[in-house]
Amino acid sequence: MLERLCSLYSFGEGTEEIWRRALEDGRVRPESYEGLSFFRLNKDVKGLKRGTILTDDGIIMAYPRIPRILHLSRGIRKNLHSPFYMEEKVDGYNIRIALVGGRIIALTRGGFICPFTTDRLEDFMDLRPFFRAHPHLVVCCEVAGPEGPYNPETPPHVDEDVRFFVFDIMEKGTGRFMPPEEKYSFLEEWGLPGVRVLGRFLPDEGDGVREVLLSLNREGCEGVVIKPVGEGKVIKYVTPSSHIRDIRVGSLMIEDLPPGYFLKRLIMLTISIEELGLDGAGIFEDLGRAFLEPLSQAMERVEAGEGIKETFSIRVRKREAMEKLMEHLEGVCQVEIEPVRKRKEGEYWRMVFTRRYRKTERILRTGLRGSLFMD
Ligand code: ATP
Repeated sequence: MLERLCSLYSFGEGTEEIWRRALEDGRVRPESYEGLSFFRLNKDVKGLKRGTILTDDGIIMAYPRIPRILHLSRGIRKNLHSPFYMEEKVDGYNIRIALVGGRIIALTRGGFICPFTTDRLEDFMDLRPFFRAHPHLVVCCEVAGPEGPYNPETPPHVDEDVRFFVFDIMEKGTGRFMPPEEKYSFLEEWGLPGVRVLGRFLPDEGDGVREVLLSLNREGCEGVVIKPVGEGKVIKYVTPSSHIRDIRVGSLMIEDLPPGYFLKRLIMLTISIEELGLDGAGIFEDLGRAFLEPLSQAMERVEAGEGIKETFSIRVRKREAMEKLMEHLEGVCQVEIEPVRKRKEGEYWRMVFTRRYRKTERILRTGLRGSLFMD
C-alpha cells in the first residue's frame, strides 16, 4: 500500500515517511467502490487537502474552500484589483466528476463517491465524449433541487428533481482551474450546463454589483461567487434572504447544530441589511418567523409524541444505488435515517426517507415535561 502511494504522489524528500505516518493515523485511507480502488485524504497531508483522491488515473485535488466577504462593496474593493465575473452561487452540494478506472464517478467534497449523484449523472450530461477527449479534466459542479438527498433547500429555479450546474473545470494532478472566459466558451462548446454568469465588472463598479445582488435577493437565490479574470482571489457573498432561509431550515433542528451556525448568519445578515438598505422591508419580522415558526412546529410534534424529522424524496435509476446511498448517509454523513417507502416509478426507483434530529427532540421533550434546567 505504502509503495503504491509513493508511486502515486511524491512530496520530494521524505515521501515514504510522510505517507507511512498518514496511513498509520488514518489521514489517508484506502477506499474501494464497485471494483474501483483509490486513496482518499480524510485529513490534510502536507499541503494536500482533505477530500483529495489519489488514483491510477491521476490525482483529483480537493475543491478549495472559498473565502467569504461580509461587506460587499468594501470586500470587493479590498480584495480585487482587476476585472472579475460574478457567477450565481447555486445552493446545493459540491460534486467533482471525473473519469477513474474507465468509469465516470461523482465525488463529494470529502472525496467519497456519491451513490446518488453517480447514478443520476447520465440523466443530465453525457460526459462520455467529453472524457474521451479530456480524461485529465475534472468537472466541478453544484447539484441542487428539491429531490436531493442532502439538503432540503433548493434554488427557486429548480422546482423538481435535481439539476447539475457546472461552475469550474479543474485539471487532474495540479488542481489548476480553467480561467473564467475560457471556461464559459468551453462549457458551451461541450454543451455542459453552467451556472448563471451575472456579468463582468470592475472593482469600482459597486452600483452594478449591488443591483445584481438585490435582484438575486428578491429571486431567493443564494448569492454570488466572484471570479477574477486574471490573478486574484475567488470570493463568495451570500444574500440576506438566503441567511434567513438557512435560519428557517436550521431552527427545526436548533439543538443539533453548532451555535455558531446561527451567530455567523446573524452577523452576516446585519451587515448586509445595512449595506443593501433592506431595513424596514419586513426583514425583521421574516427573521423572527424564520426562528420561531419551525421551532413551534417542532414543539407541536414533540407534544404529539412524534419525532422531529425532515422528509426527503429522491429518485434513482439503479436499485443498488438506494442501498448504497443509505449506507453513505448513515456511515459517512453519520445521520439517522429511517426509510419510509420505495417503489418503482417508470424507469426510476422513488425512495422516501426521513432524517431525525434527536437532540432538539430531547430538549423540547424534557422542557415540555416540566423538568428543571440549570443555565
Ligand atoms: P467553503 O468553500 O468555505 O468550504 P462551504 O463548504 O460551507 O464553504 P459554501 O459556503 O456553500 O460552502 O460555499 C462554497 C461552495 O459553493 C463551493 O464549494 C461550491 O460547492 C458552491 N458553489 C455554488 N455555486 C458556485 C460557483 N458559481 N462557483 C464556485 N462554487 C460554487
